Amino acid sequence: MADLNGILILWDIDGTLLSAKGAGPQAFDRATLEHFGYAIPISSIDWPGATDYAIAYALLEKAGRTVIRGEAQVLIDRYLSHLPEMLDKTHARAIEGTRELLEHFHGNDSVYQALLTGNVSRGSDIKLGYLGVDHYFRFGAFADHSDQRNDLSRHALDLAREHLHPEWSPEQVYVIGDTPKDIECGKHIGAHTIAVATGHHSVAELEAHEPTRVFDSFADPQVLIDYLSARA
Ligand SMILES: [Mg+2]
Repeated sequence: MADLNGILILWDIDGTLLSAKGAGPQAFDRATLEHFGYAIPISSIDWPGATDYAIAYALLEKAGRTVIRGEAQVLIDRYLSHLPEMLDKTHARAIEGTRELLEHFHGNDSVYQALLTGNVSRGSDIKLGYLGVDHYFRFGAFADHSDQRNDLSRHALDLAREHLHPEWSPEQVYVIGDTPKDIECGKHIGAHTIAVATGHHSVAELEAHEPTRVFDSFADPQVLIDYLSARA
């Protein structure tokens, strides 16, 4: 059983751990081209922070199709088939400071790390495997569970109670992400929310959503280590 005085970090992936310079959107563009016969630019929908299923549903709607999970799944399968090549092509990399943070907290017995991401689990495996950081996480809340990001934070808390301690409290949870949707889903369960401006949103844009704390980046990993070590 985990240390009930410990904390749980729930990491977002895209824009937080991974800078892929459009690998995901380009893989979705390929998927729509293949599936519909013409590309529907992902930029035409509100995709940052959205789950893969929410993205697939929005693309189906744009194409005038009936929005059903089965066809969304086919689209996501096509997206996943293009993802490894696009990660290569866009020279995807870990965002500065995050490898150090993952390793640092991994060595701390009262800090646990898991994933809270809009990726489906296979997409998460591909992205984190590509970076070689897939071994740091105790569990993950993925889009396979729900297309609504706010459901995923509730699911992550359930998983914490299953994997760490049955009495795990939202007060012990720090949701880290780069979009207003991450902040919103963290607040949804009463967790602390840490926003980082390494994705598509500026510090000012993130501050407007009143997270617990905003950082411009983790290029100096010590800023987050100091912030969290006061709490763990
Ligand atoms: Mg993100």
